[in-house]
Amino acid sequence: MVKEYFFEKTDRTNAFITRLDLAMYEETGGPLEGKGIAVKDNISTAGIPTTCGSRILAGYVPPFDAHVVTCLREAGAAIVGKTNMDEFGMGTTTENSAYGPTTNPHDTSRVPGGSSGGSAAAVGDGMVDMALGSDTGGSIRCPAAFCGIVGLKPTFGRVSRYGLIAYSNSLEQIGPLGQTVTDVNTLMSAIAGPDSRDSTAYDRPYTHTPSSEIAGMKIAVPEEFFGEGVDPTVAESVRNAIGKLEDAGAETMACSIPSMAYALAAYYVTCTSEASSNLSRFDGVRFGPSVETKRSWHDEYRDHRGTFFGKEVQRRILLGTFALSAGYYGKYYAKAQVARENVRKDFLRIFKDADIIAGPTMPQIAFKLGEKSDPLSMYLADILTVPANLAGVPAISVPCGTVDKMPVGLQLIGRHFEDERVVDAAFAYE
Ligand code: GLN
Repeated sequence: MVKEYFFEKTDRTNAFITRLDLAMYEETGGPLEGKGIAVKDNISTAGIPTTCGSRILAGYVPPFDAHVVTCLREAGAAIVGKTNMDEFGMGTTTENSAYGPTTNPHDTSRVPGGSSGGSAAAVGDGMVDMALGSDTGGSIRCPAAFCGIVGLKPTFGRVSRYGLIAYSNSLEQIGPLGQTVTDVNTLMSAIAGPDSRDSTAYDRPYTHTPSSEIAGMKIAVPEEFFGEGVDPTVAESVRNAIGKLEDAGAETMACSIPSMAYALAAYYVTCTSEASSNLSRFDGVRFGPSVETKRSWHDEYRDHRGTFFGKEVQRRILLGTFALSAGYYGKYYAKAQVARENVRKDFLRIFKDADIIAGPTMPQIAFKLGEKSDPLSMYLADILTVPANLAGVPAISVPCGTVDKMPVGLQLIGRHFEDERVVDAAFAYE
């Protein structure tokens, strides 16, 4: 039976691009029955506009549901709307949206983090029960940390990306955000598993009941996660959190990830290269607004993209096109792949002895709106989140106290396909 869900919450933070005042849900007896769930606006929803936070997709209504959206509907969820995001996922604050920034529910003069800032703000402000985000280089974990909620980036391949509008395919995953680890676990159970329409989706369903039994769990603490650029008060609050895990029976050990020196560069070369290719489909013919023209195709393509893509997206397309151009390929893209492999090897080495790697999610608390107007300073803020994407391993952010009344996130990273253990470590902390 189809039931009505009235979504009447006030949107103080501009968390939504599209909201459905009346959302319907199916009485399926599923684990999400009657739950209000928000979906990031880069995940396709049949009949509901999907813009990726961009003017270039204004008015685009997908004719099909993403795999994860089908899963939500089958689990009985009411999809209440589409959340604000940095355009195509490019950003760390949700300020790069064509639909205005989202603000932080704890302090509206600050950013919610990004790029899934709308999803995190909607959960953090109590508008919805849970939300879906996507994480290419931290976009679930960063806003979860800044908004004081839980966010999980699953292992690469654990959740189908069919219907996710691609930014950087080799890095990104769809994942859950919620108030509690239990909520995140429930949403993860609904979306994970195989899908023949995404060849990278493994046959690894997720059926797990969180356990706080972590006696003997080995937790490695990398020195690089507490180094230069990490706010000492944030570092202290995360060290205290790791101390609590020790009290609960975990053993900690120091470790080092030397490849982190190149991780950010490897990330930005890889994601801009993939974006320059993925975003070439936005040509003004197939999707979004189009302009009647009698000019050459070349002029039209240039003007359309110059008009409807935002500044940051244009910057990244140019960077990626340059990095992939003949003569520079070996210098940038090929080198980035070597650095990426080194990050993966560092993780595999540490995971021979340790079950979990722990550190801060973000080097600072939520920035003031406008504080990171220089793109480089914004890129630097991703240093602690991108390694997990480069290696493809699962990582969760769980709230661990406050600094200046703003939430701080503890990041817990696990082995490939050990999402369950990452969830347990977070559950034990919570
Ligand atoms: N902030 C990072 C970027 O701008 C990560 C974004 C993401 O995970 N989508 O690319």
